[in-house]
Amino acid sequence: MDWKLLSTQKIREIYYRLFFRQCYLCQSPSKQIFCHHCQQGLNPNLICCQQCKRPSNQPQSICGQCQSNKPSYQVCIAPYLFNGTMRTLIHQIKFNHGGHFIRPLTECICQNLVSEYQSRSWPQQLLFVPSHPKRIRQRGFCQTQLMAKQLHKQLQAILGKETPDFPKTNPILKVQYSQAQHTLPRKARLTAPNKNYQIQGQIAEHVALFDDVMTTGSTIEACCKQLLKAGAKRIDVWVIARTPDKTH
Ligand SMILES: [Zn+2]
Ligand SMILES: [Zn+2]
Repeated sequence: MDWKLLSTQKIREIYYRLFFRQCYLCQSPSKQIFCHHCQQGLNPNLICCQQCKRPSNQPQSICGQCQSNKPSYQVCIAPYLFNGTMRTLIHQIKFNHGGHFIRPLTECICQNLVSEYQSRSWPQQLLFVPSHPKRIRQRGFCQTQLMAKQLHKQLQAILGKETPDFPKTNPILKVQYSQAQHTLPRKARLTAPNKNYQIQGQIAEHVALFDDVMTTGSTIEACCKQLLKAGAKRIDVWVIARTPDKTH
């Protein structure tokens, strides 16, 4: 890792953000976070299951998996598909010290949340799906924690007192170390046991559960089951991007 190069890039980006109104990715003039061209590389998740937001070919339908096994959460908000520019950005954040991409990404989901919650009440608490402490030590950070923290800040600027509470210590703990989800075959991901997660701390009745990417939904489901046991009555899932199943 060339730290000198990285910090030079970072300074350049901050400079651009402060002095110019430019696209966060390509630095061409733009009043939005991403210019029109870069925006086209982000694919909105429009045609999907109404419940779990799994991308599908049939609009306004409920997928087979939700019909046979109703999810434990009430609402799922997943505005983008995990491909194209979105995939690159999330990979940069996770594996290539691309922390400066967190803000534009959470701004995107923040805008979506504000429009989704015009006719709903906001959750009381914002929680996130954590990585295992061992993985956090390997990477040096927990990306979902950084994203949720930034999202909370952005929501606070818009909602003020209505903003969901963001606990100092996330009450969801990952206690079982498992192989990184993206390296496992689908079947192994679906059988991930609920005991991977434990709850320690106060859980509100209405919570938002944040994760960056949702694939099969088994991780989210495992956390939801524990949250319901710990006193949550209603869970709204907030993810930035949704991956289509490999079988689709
Ligand atoms: Zn651009
Ligand atoms: Zn579904």
